[in-house]
Amino acid sequence: MANNRNTLGYSIVDYRNNVILKQEKAFLTSLTKLYQSSHGKLRTYLAILFEKYGDKDGKLKQEELLKYKRYLTIKKDIQDIIKEQGKEELKLLNHQLNSIVEDEHNYSLFLLFSLGMIKTNQVKPLTSGERNKIMNSIWYGEHFSDTLSKHKGQLANNLYLSIFTSSSTGLTLTDATQITKKKLETGIKNTQRIYQTEQQRKRIDSALLAFNEKGHYSGKYQWLATLDERTCHICREFDGKYYELDKLPKYPSHPYCRCVVLPDLESYGVEPISYRAARDPRTRKTYLTTAKNYREWQIKQGLISS
Ligand SMILES: [Zn+2]
Repeated sequence: MANNRNTLGYSIVDYRNNVILKQEKAFLTSLTKLYQSSHGKLRTYLAILFEKYGDKDGKLKQEELLKYKRYLTIKKDIQDIIKEQGKEELKLLNHQLNSIVEDEHNYSLFLLFSLGMIKTNQVKPLTSGERNKIMNSIWYGEHFSDTLSKHKGQLANNLYLSIFTSSSTGLTLTDATQITKKKLETGIKNTQRIYQTEQQRKRIDSALLAFNEKGHYSGKYQWLATLDERTCHICREFDGKYYELDKLPKYPSHPYCRCVVLPDLESYGVEPISYRAARDPRTRKTYLTTAKNYREWQIKQGLISS
């Protein structure tokens, strides 16, 4: 029985990992489209600016921007375009995180159900109150929408400043477009980081809601880091350890943290997980290992000596 449960558990985990990968791909595609559209808008804006104020060689000079304090209008225009993009990004993030919360909650209940720990009538959908509580929670004193808007403000300022300073030696439209592209790429990376970190937090929050807050499970939780070389030193230490809920380290423990927590199903008679996914540091391929924690994995890989 225990073995069957374990196999079933694995196919669910496997299925879920594929769903997560697809969700992430879809999100990235939508995000890239948003950036392309913003880049297009900014390019058009810059072209008009050069048309109006550029010299006969097509260069934009700082003295032209200083005239009648034109730089103030330009700064405002750039801010408006980036702000508009921020709004779209927030919509995208909200949509994506909402469905992650829903999925993860359902997945956790399904896991409990498939392991025989709850009955059909206990598999209840997420309420809007539960969803809002998770969506509105803050991490390190800040809601993700504020982090996003802060980054958008910085992006607009950096872009404006970069264009303004470069114009002191005369700026070409090609240079200005190039600057814009680079700044926007940094912007994408920032949003990706916010998304990656926040989605990981939402997954754990939703799982804990299904397991603990709904009263289906009151045991310890095991912290599981990713078995590859990118895992940070703090998370390596947490890996494989069991914690009471109130002693659980703050999660995600840092931006880009990929750690998850799992209820200690062993104490409920479920066979312990005998294999974990790991990434080979040399081939970078994913494989299964019998290592129980990060240290054991490092020893098996010959990365450290026992
Ligand atoms: Zn981590």
